[in-house]
Amino acid sequence: MAFSQRIDMEIMSSTLTTTTLEAPLPASTLKGNDIIHNISRDRLMDLIHSISENQETPQPFYLLDLGTVERLMHSWKHSLPTTKPFYAVKCNPNPALLAALALLGANFDCASQAEIETILGLGVSPDRILYANPCKAVSHIKYAASVGVNLTTFDSKGEIEKIKQWHPKCALLLRIKIANDHTSWRPLGTKFGALSDEILPLLSEAHLSGLKVEGVSFHVGSKASDSAIYRDAIAAARDVFEAASKLGMPSMQVLNIGGGFKDNSLFSEIGKTVNEAIKDMEAAATAPLSVMAEPGRFFAETVFTLVTNVFGKRVRGDRREYWIENGIYGAFNPTAYDRSFMAFKPLLLSDHRSKEDEDSCGMLWPSTIFGPTCDAMDVVATDCKLPELQVNDLVVFYNMGAYTASAGTKFNGFDTLSTPTHLAYTRLS
Ligand SMILES: *Cc1c(COP(=O)(O)O)cnc(C)c1O
Repeated sequence: MAFSQRIDMEIMSSTLTTTTLEAPLPASTLKGNDIIHNISRDRLMDLIHSISENQETPQPFYLLDLGTVERLMHSWKHSLPTTKPFYAVKCNPNPALLAALALLGANFDCASQAEIETILGLGVSPDRILYANPCKAVSHIKYAASVGVNLTTFDSKGEIEKIKQWHPKCALLLRIKIANDHTSWRPLGTKFGALSDEILPLLSEAHLSGLKVEGVSFHVGSKASDSAIYRDAIAAARDVFEAASKLGMPSMQVLNIGGGFKDNSLFSEIGKTVNEAIKDMEAAATAPLSVMAEPGRFFAETVFTLVTNVFGKRVRGDRREYWIENGIYGAFNPTAYDRSFMAFKPLLLSDHRSKEDEDSCGMLWPSTIFGPTCDAMDVVATDCKLPELQVNDLVVFYNMGAYTASAGTKFNGFDTLSTPTHLAYTRLS
């Protein structure tokens, strides 16, 4: 491979030491993988080409760029220096991504026993885990108690009773519903968060049961489109802090601002808004404030590229239709809701092109890309203009890390959960 170089874990971790390495982790998940090292980000296409040329049979794969993961952590620390990131594992639990984030000092938001097990398995200590699921099954609560994961969220009376019985040492964050989360692409408030008239009864109930309510959490919804939504949500959290002191409860110190961040220009604006709101809140507070967040998409979305091979083709007049080995029952699950995020590029492999293809070079055809299953809904892209593709050409999809592989299935016998991941470490050229 032209741009590749085998490196081992030692080299990998020494590249990451430039940022904070909290604890040297075994990170066995990174060991033994070929990390294609130190390539320029602009040359990813060449790298993709060379990986696919080395495959015995064409097969889809992900490319995870650990260089971008590191740059995102820098960007987080730059814009939100006092807010500790707890990466939301559900967004993408790829082992190499989790290990890299752990090495970079991230903490983790887990929602189930299996997610907690995965993170502990990396050698991360339980105090770096927030069990951020407001409604938990008893077996999972007992597991959290047994491994020392001692911070969770709640938004109902029933949850207080379960935690009191099965994990009384667990500290709590009250998850509140945000009033205006409809500006988000996928609001979460219909399912989660205490309503304003439920807040006081829940606080008193938790206090009376002897549990410690350390703070407040919220989630403005995935892909927030306006930084003001964080300002308003922090103001609502601040009201809860005040309500708790009026009830005579010990001062709260934890503010959890949830997720909803994207790696785009809005992020630094959100950073400014949040930092200002935190400053105001700290000025008025009696106890020092500890601020955390649960970014999922921010760290996962842009770092994965999915490379698929065309395995079927049909020509109908002007139209071109192609089949690829992943679809809405796999990585393209989000496209069932919203196709606007998609960015892709065909990569033509010249060695099996005919004379006619060469002649039609430069022409674009109205094209459809289908997923592999027998569900007629399984369509990845419609009405796009593409050059003439042939079977075995590649279609490269960018920004394929958020809620893609993690939402995969084996529907119809097409296993979209086991797509292999190649690791690259890019530098900006
Ligand atoms: C899904 C989820 C997140 C991550 O949200 P993003 O929009 O991906 O940042 C964070 N916190 C909780 C509780 C979640 O359910």
